[in-house]
Amino acid sequence: MSDEQTCQRCGEPVELDREDFELFERMHPECFHFAFEHDLNKPGLSVDEDCGDPACPAAS
Ligand SMILES: [Zn+2]
Ligand SMILES: [Zn+2]
Repeated sequence: MSDEQTCQRCGEPVELDREDFELFERMHPECFHFAFEHDLNKPGLSVDEDCGDPACPAAS
């Protein structure tokens, strides 16, 4: 397909519905989280650390 969706943050293909892709600013949901939400409360927080958000990909 010519309109392959590519993540604006990591450059990998994103397999989401177009609508959801736009919703996440043309990123993976987890990339969107790291880009906009992850260090909101703790600036400079490492991507390996849980930011406290239940949706945080770093939470195990
Ligand atoms: Zn990504
Ligand atoms: Zn987080």
